[in-house]
Amino acid sequence: MMKYLLLAAVIAVVYALWRNGQRRMPRPPAGPRGAPQASLPEPMVRCARCGVHLPQSQALSHDGHSYCCEAHRRQGRDA
Ligand SMILES: [Zn+2]
Repeated sequence: MMKYLLLAAVIAVVYALWRNGQRRMPRPPAGPRGAPQASLPEPMVRCARCGVHLPQSQALSHDGHSYCCEAHRRQGRDA
């Protein structure tokens, strides 16, 4: 009798682990691939002073121009 109880316990544990694993598995993509949400390309801007390209979020804007750093922003477009 104890053997069967043990067997039932083992099966229950295996079943629980299996269900856990199923839940953690990544879902297969349903249907056509949707719009990519991550890693959207950031717009690049050009420093009006030295011409280096940099992400817009890191650029300094002044008078409608973008600059790579504070020094270039102060020096202006074509100093
Ligand atoms: Zn620059």
